[in-house]
Amino acid sequence: MNFQWAVGTHRGLVRRGNEDAAYPATSGKSDGPVLIMVADGMGGAVAGEVASRLAVQHASDAEDSDVAGRVRAANEAILAEAEQHPELAGMGTTLTLFAIEPDGVARFAHVGDSRAYLLREEELRQLTIDHTVVNQYIRAGKLTREEAAIHPQRSMLTRALGLTPNVEIDTGEETLTSGDRLLLCSDGVNSMLDDDRIAEAMTVDTAEEVVWALIEGANRAGGHDNITALVLDVAD
Ligand code: CA
Repeated sequence: MNFQWAVGTHRGLVRRGNEDAAYPATSGKSDGPVLIMVADGMGGAVAGEVASRLAVQHASDAEDSDVAGRVRAANEAILAEAEQHPELAGMGTTLTLFAIEPDGVARFAHVGDSRAYLLREEELRQLTIDHTVVNQYIRAGKLTREEAAIHPQRSMLTRALGLTPNVEIDTGEETLTSGDRLLLCSDGVNSMLDDDRIAEAMTVDTAEEVVWALIEGANRAGGHDNITALVLDVAD
């Protein structure tokens, strides 16, 4: 299989800094294996930026680990850094990571509210579950998706890296085929654009164009948060 990806990140129109991180940091292509991820940091001052950068750095360095092991390595690195630097205490981050084999088998590990979507034959499917308070309400039938989108606690996480040594990690597997388009994004995309708008943006020609359609779309909708999108196309 051939994999071609594009990545873009933008501060948005409201936030002073950009606490998102993506890996790889630049666009590229490969026959695999490919490792891709998005992290969305949180914490005072620069702490959120530190957490998301540590996450992608340590997850990518943990070469002998499976996907969950990579996430655990990232978690440990953030906890260790916070212990050494009290001013960073309480920093945390999401991490959504895919390791894709040359044959298209994609294993993922995920903590937080960044998202992975798969566009296959014009149908968009979210592969990850948001670890948020409002998503728990939705799954319990107490809230609709529309109500959740404007709920005051919509960005409150139930899980993140950097908070506890024993973080619970979702894992999954998907076999990618030619024509598939994978999106990893921070919530600055999906809090501004609903799934229909995301699907529409994902139907443009190239991965690079999708990334910028999402960033421009999120900014046109208000750009309330940092915006990061990584799009990977699969071909024979
Ligand atoms: Ca965010």
